[in-house]
Amino acid sequence: MIPSPLPGQPQLHYRGPSLYLEDCRLSDLAAQHGTPLYVYSQAAMLAALEAYRRGFAGREVQICYAMKANSSLAVLQLFARQGCGFDIVSGGELERVRAAGGDMAKVIFSGVGKTRAEMRQALEAGIGCFNVESEAELEVLNEVALSMGLRAPVSIRVNPNVDARTHPYISTGLKGNKFGIAHERTLAVYQRAAGLPGLRVAGIDCHIGSQITQEAPYLDAMDRMLDLVEAIEAAGIPIGHLDFGGGLGINYDGEVPPAADALWARLLARLDARGHGGRRLMIEPGRSLVGNAGVCLTEVLYLKPGEQKNFCIVDAAMNDLPRPAMYQAFHAIVPLERPDARREPVVYDVVGPVCESGDWLGRDRPLAIAPGEHLAVLSAGAYCASMGSTYNSRPRPAELLVDGSQAHLIRSRERVAQLFENEHLLQGDRA
Ligand SMILES: *Cc1c(COP(=O)(O)O)cnc(C)c1O
Repeated sequence: MIPSPLPGQPQLHYRGPSLYLEDCRLSDLAAQHGTPLYVYSQAAMLAALEAYRRGFAGREVQICYAMKANSSLAVLQLFARQGCGFDIVSGGELERVRAAGGDMAKVIFSGVGKTRAEMRQALEAGIGCFNVESEAELEVLNEVALSMGLRAPVSIRVNPNVDARTHPYISTGLKGNKFGIAHERTLAVYQRAAGLPGLRVAGIDCHIGSQITQEAPYLDAMDRMLDLVEAIEAAGIPIGHLDFGGGLGINYDGEVPPAADALWARLLARLDARGHGGRRLMIEPGRSLVGNAGVCLTEVLYLKPGEQKNFCIVDAAMNDLPRPAMYQAFHAIVPLERPDARREPVVYDVVGPVCESGDWLGRDRPLAIAPGEHLAVLSAGAYCASMGSTYNSRPRPAELLVDGSQAHLIRSRERVAQLFENEHLLQGDRA
């Protein structure tokens, strides 16, 4: 009934009957802070970062945390203090980097729909590079930079047309995806970029998808990108850095993705074999740095037996944990206190209070649980809080970052009044 070992980090474990994250008993945190509640392990995040660093030992690499995975300020601050840069996808994320004390020179700006205002904001901030995703964007960025008397550092995001073999909604490197510039167009686009006075060619990049659990798509994408680098440089345009994006998967349900250090040992061997070992490198990991570092705690409100299904209704919902509703994603769900062995497990669909049939967190889960008891939704450190909404006027949960036996409140539970503070009643007294 309880998966053993628990998917994810060694920082999450049972001691006796109680589930702990590092040295914090999660039942205590739920009692103290209420639910739903996100709890993240600092040690797990640092260990995930360390795995990448081991893989890159002795190389010149900039790790740019893809902050959309979890953009809480304290999480950004933790990575900034470790020397990480950030991969951002909006002007809002740029302001978060600033608020967290990140280094603007280590920021790269991705995304297919950057506005002129966002370009100006990023140029003023002095970010490290724009990852340009279309020819039209290249022209606009050139105009904006010229109007400010600046040259924008650019890298073209190449769509290498490789299948990341992941869920279609999180696959980004195929021809049919909206991301990047087609492999066939890349040389022509670099020639155009090199001729525009408001731009400076800084590098090349790709990002082929997310929750990738195999090595082959990375090797394929690297080969495709190196072919392009060789062609572009043969045409007289030097390419500075090579950015291989993010996308490395995590263990949600027994998946065994390559470890970051092993993956990079293989990729660097390929890079060396092709004579590009001395290049400046960048990566943009998101999920693999934070996903397994977090859990979402929730209280069981009601058990509702049915003819076809039994429902376990909890106080967290699709607005807090959107991945099951969005991608039919699996999160392991375990009790905060192991039940008495005499209690018989029942198979439940674990669902939230939101008025949508898509509001489910887990299907067909055997649980020996009673109302008032608590569950932990595992692997909830990435694309959960950051993707959450306030649908059904549900305030956002509080977030804690634990470090050993200390739990730091890094986000207070949102107050209902905050949900409508920007709203305006109609003026006047006409009906
Ligand atoms: C989302 C994203 C990433 C991070 O992806 P993960 O799967 O979380 O590692 C990296 N680069 C770009 C451009 C992205 O959009």
